[in-house]
Amino acid sequence: MEFTKYDYDNVINEINLMGLISRSDDDHDIVLENTINAFMKTADRFENIYKKNLYSNCNHILAHIEDHTYCIKCGLDDIVLRNGVTNDDEKLMLEYLSNNKLKGIDTEIICDKEMAMALTYRIALDKPTINTRELAKDFIDTINDIRSDNKCFRR
Ligand SMILES: [Zn+2]
Repeated sequence: MEFTKYDYDNVINEINLMGLISRSDDDHDIVLENTINAFMKTADRFENIYKKNLYSNCNHILAHIEDHTYCIKCGLDDIVLRNGVTNDDEKLMLEYLSNNKLKGIDTEIICDKEMAMALTYRIALDKPTINTRELAKDFIDTINDIRSDNKCFRR
């Protein structure tokens, strides 16, 4: 069975709706609470399936920080191979990287992961039909522009 972001968003919307109904109700409704809990568990399962699909279907674009490599699109990060895991998301990353190599277009850029992912998101938002190779190039160009601007600024 395949799960899409659309399915996942629908479940989250359902939960939010149930949460709103619950908050507007003066009487504590145990049945409703159980339903919400069941939805939450299902949503967690959906998120895991969604993330697994994301890691395995992403055409990764790689950047680096310190001694680890990550994908600027999906966030898959090989730091979990060395540092172990602290949450469910990292557990999924470790599971994926135990069976697959982290490979893709290497930008050879060294950059803070949050900043790199935010920039990538921004570029993809501006150019919704951009392909992976163009996205990698735009990312490199943007980082280089920022860095050369900063150099000018320091002078
Ligand atoms: Zn990726």
